[in-house]
Parts: sequence; structure tokens; C-alpha cells
Amino acid sequence: MAVSDPVRVRIAPSPTGFAHLGTASTALYNVLFARQTGGTFVLRIDDTDMERNRPEYEALIYESLRWLSLGWDEGPDKGGPHAPYRQSERVDVYKEEAARLIQQGKAYRCYCTPEELEAERRQAQAEKRAYRYSRRCLTNPPEGRSVFAVRFKVPGGEVTFADMVRGEMRFDAGLIGDFIIVKSDGYPTYQFASPVDDARMEITHVIRGEEHLSNTPYQLMLVDALGYPRPHAYAHMPLILAHDGSKLSKRKHPEANLILFRDQGYLPEALINYLALLGWNPGTEQEIFSFDELVRAFSFERVQHGGARFDWEKLNWINGEYIRGLSDEELARRLKSFLPQLDEDVVRRAIPPLRTRMYKLAQAVDYLDYLWTDPPTPSLDAETVERVKAAIDALKDVPWEAEAIESALENAVASSGVGKGKFYTPLRDTLTGKKVSLPIHYTLELLPKDEALKRLERAA
Ligand code: GLU
Repeated sequence: MAVSDPVRVRIAPSPTGFAHLGTASTALYNVLFARQTGGTFVLRIDDTDMERNRPEYEALIYESLRWLSLGWDEGPDKGGPHAPYRQSERVDVYKEEAARLIQQGKAYRCYCTPEELEAERRQAQAEKRAYRYSRRCLTNPPEGRSVFAVRFKVPGGEVTFADMVRGEMRFDAGLIGDFIIVKSDGYPTYQFASPVDDARMEITHVIRGEEHLSNTPYQLMLVDALGYPRPHAYAHMPLILAHDGSKLSKRKHPEANLILFRDQGYLPEALINYLALLGWNPGTEQEIFSFDELVRAFSFERVQHGGARFDWEKLNWINGEYIRGLSDEELARRLKSFLPQLDEDVVRRAIPPLRTRMYKLAQAVDYLDYLWTDPPTPSLDAETVERVKAAIDALKDVPWEAEAIESALENAVASSGVGKGKFYTPLRDTLTGKKVSLPIHYTLELLPKDEALKRLERAA
């Protein structure tokens, strides 16, 4: 490919489970690079695993990338000059390409059964040598069989390529055995479909997770064998690890599930900011970056080589910063879907005390659910009951707004002989059923006055 070719990058997620955090991270780096270079970002759906693909998983990929505003220029839903963008709709292309390789003697049919291959593997193990396919079907294919896979005849030698993160990479292809490119069901393997599509879709830079680093020599040998120009460069981005340093698993780690961040009320722009910093270091103290700032600052040279540990504390801090930075109006708009039970006006009034106490929007529900549920009435001792009665007296004739409530209560505290903590705790318990709430005057004000007094009277 000529260096002057316009940049084209892609992600190729597989719709085999819920959308993964790693997909967002890879998409982000692709988008940043595309925006820096005026390039094109392609979304290709890697759905050749017919047993595990589900349309609802594909829909989740679209939904979560859209939520993050990581939009694509070409894709299954948008079309483009290289349509179709779903690999399951491109099977004829892979078949033709495999046939071409067979015809040129660069690939061959393999009729070995799984049992035969397993026996070869065990033999190698017993002899303590690294396993590589024996090439039996290249030199001496069994007769009378009709079920076959297609194997690539690995040419050997050294495969080198430029990695924008790691520099020049070298692999000894002599260690790689002839591998399968088309399975016996006629579907291509990832190792085959991916470089074929990257080439035909004119992808100039392949930016993907580090777990694919060892796949690159396989894929480059295929690109060369098919006579396609190679991409200019690769970038293998650090793997996101769980907070405990283990591999992120969809089953064990909630942070693997991208949509969970939306459901918990992480702001998409905060998650983007966090994900950028997770694998990349700006080289300055700056931690809060708008998307445009990221586009300007990002570079592959400052991407770390080792795995990147997910850090909830840092994400929570960044998200809190973004929440505090929203206007009242915008914060109310974003809270709406978390608080469907509340009128807009109540949400607006709750914002001043909420804003500084939340690091994610779902926390608003914990603070405010007393407004639509009726907490159990606590049983209080006689002395406490007297103080609740004093509070009722102080509040009865007060105009129902936070400041007036606050000063009425402060007067009541002053004449009660106990401290604020002791005075307010049973009130909080009575009104909300919880140990933690917004400041007591807001807690009261957000309830309709008659309801607030009713709860207090019930406890008294
Ligand atoms: N379907 C592969 C994945 O999601 C694509 C890898 C690649 O980018 O080549 O990991």
C-alpha cells in the first residue's frame, strides 16, 4: 500500500456475547487515529462462528458504540464501497480466495479426521517436540474421503512488520505449522477471513488488542500469498486486565460488560476519557480530556506495552468530575432515565445536593427512592420521640423550601440539648429508612410537606 493512501482503519468485533469493554477501547483508538488523519473508520462484523453469533449481540455492539459516540463511516447498517460488512455475507469471497490459493499450490485440502489429528498431536507430545501438522494430506492424501478442510502451506522464513506501539516485530514462521483457513463446514477461520477483508477493504492500519499480536504473522503470510499489498502498519494495544490483574472475564468481572457502565450511570464522555488513559499516557499531569483534546494529544508512542489494569477508583473520580461539570439542566436530562418515578421539577430541586455526592448517576436512585417508596416506621425510645415532636413543631409553619427548613431545624437542635447528629439521625431514618441521605433539609424539602410531616408523626 502506498504511504499516501488515505487512512482506513477498522474494528471487527464478534457478536458472540455482550459488548465487551475491550471493544470500546479498541474502537476508541481506531477512531482517534482516524480523526487525527482524516481517515475512515470501518465497522466489520466478524460473525463466522455460526454457533455462537446472535443478532441481539450485534445490536448491542451498535448500541454501545453509539452510546459512546464512537460512530463508524462504513458498516453493515450503513453500507459503503466494500459492502457487505458482515463476514457471514462474504463467504463466497473467502471460498474464491481459498480456491485461488489451492490452484496456485499455496494451500491444500486436508482430509484428516479430528481423531487422526489428535493422535499426531499426542505423538508429538510423547516425543517432546512442538506440534506442527505433518503435511500428510499434502504429500500423501488418504483416498475416498469427501469431507475436508483447507490448509495454508506455510512458506516459513521470517515475518517482520512495523508495530506503531512496539516498533519492528519479527517472527520465525518456521515454528508455524500449516494451519486451517477454511473449516470443513465451508466457513473461513478468523485467521483467513480477517486478512482477506482487511486487504479487500483497503485497511491501511490494523489497530487491535495485544491478544492478536501472535496472529499477525499468520495473517501477513496469507496477505503475501494472495498477492495483496500489506497494511502500512499494525498497532497492538494493551490488554485490559481486571482490577486484580487477571484476564478480564465476562463471567467474573462486571467491568468486562460495556453496557453496564451505561446502566450504572457512567457518562459516555467520562468512560472515553478513562479508557484513553487506561492504555495511553499523555506524558503530562492532565487527566481530564475532552474528545477533541484526545484527538490532538493521542499518539501510539505513548501507549504502554504491558497489560492495563482496570481501576474503578480512578474511573469513579473521573466520572464524578464530569458529573460536577454538567449544567443543572444537562444533569437533570441525564438523570431522567434513572428516576422515571419523579417529576422533572423534583429532579431539578434534587440536583444541588446530589451533584457533589454522586460519582455515578445510579446513585441518585439510592438517595431519592424514599420519594416513591414508603420506608418502614422505626420504633423510637421516648426521649427520641420528644425530639421528633420538637422537629414537627418547628417545621409545621415553615415555608417548604430548603433554607427555611434548615434554619427552623437548627433552632430546634439548639433548644434540644443534643447535637445535630443525634437530632437528625432518627429524622433521617423516619423519612428515608436509611443511614445515609442528602442533608436533612433537602431530604425534607424534596418530599411534599404533608407527606414529610405524616412520616414524622407516624414515628412520633
Ligand atoms: N473478531 C476479532 C476480535 O474481536 C477481531 C480481531 C481483529 O481485530 O483482527 O477479537
